Amino acid sequence: MADCLLTTTRDMAAMPVPPESLQAGRNQYYSTRILKEMLKEVPADALKLLGVTEKDLCIPILTYVFGEAQLGGTVAVVSLARLRQEFHGLPPDRPLFLSRLRKESLHELGHTFGLVHCRSRECVMSLSNTVSDVDGKGSDFCRYCRAMVASGADAGRRGG
Ligand SMILES: [Zn+2]
Ligand SMILES: [Zn+2]
Repeated sequence: MADCLLTTTRDMAAMPVPPESLQAGRNQYYSTRILKEMLKEVPADALKLLGVTEKDLCIPILTYVFGEAQLGGTVAVVSLARLRQEFHGLPPDRPLFLSRLRKESLHELGHTFGLVHCRSRECVMSLSNTVSDVDGKGSDFCRYCRAMVASGADAGRRGG
């Protein structure tokens, strides 16, 4: 993960995807409802909670999302479904899949630190509508976004 920013992480027991988040006729899950359920499970000592799911995610007005986060909040979720080459009819590529997962996880966590989309294509906070957008952007925060995350993490540690 982002060296020095997220120094301590731990895995939690798997949570079921809330059944009411299933979007009838779409075989997709409404990410905002998942975030709502995740909020109930945030450990008292946790700064952020990142959910990772195999389910394909969407919000009602968009065909799909790679993930969603509470802007300036605590919880974020990313979907593995579309990050795999197999989803797009291509041979598996694990390093590429992991690189996409890292980028989208950092991106969604960045939103929980209050970051909005960054205009720098070098920055992991730039908007990705497609996997080629994900592949084309940088894998870390730009200097500006990194400073924002660092100050948010400090405030969290102080309990502010
Ligand atoms: Zn975003
Ligand atoms: Zn940036």
